[in-house]
Amino acid sequence: MNSEATRRTFGRRRRRSLTECHCCRQRFPFCWQCRHCGFSICQDCIQENLWGMSCNGITWQCPDCGEQNGFGNQ
Ligand SMILES: [Zn+2]
Ligand SMILES: [Zn+2]
Repeated sequence: MNSEATRRTFGRRRRRSLTECHCCRQRFPFCWQCRHCGFSICQDCIQENLWGMSCNGITWQCPDCGEQNGFGNQ
């Protein structure tokens, strides 16, 4: 049995501070994060949903708690 070495290579990788996008469930080094509830969304998803989340391109509305968050303040 030589599965021990294989097992060690996987699942032990130390994660850097990646944030999980609540939308697509992938992990990114950067996500937009709601200051109020911690909801996070990646750049791709926010672009895709921009029409529903932002009316002015300056702030975006958290779909979770409905609060406004500003672009560019993090
Ligand atoms: Zn995403
Ligand atoms: Zn929120």
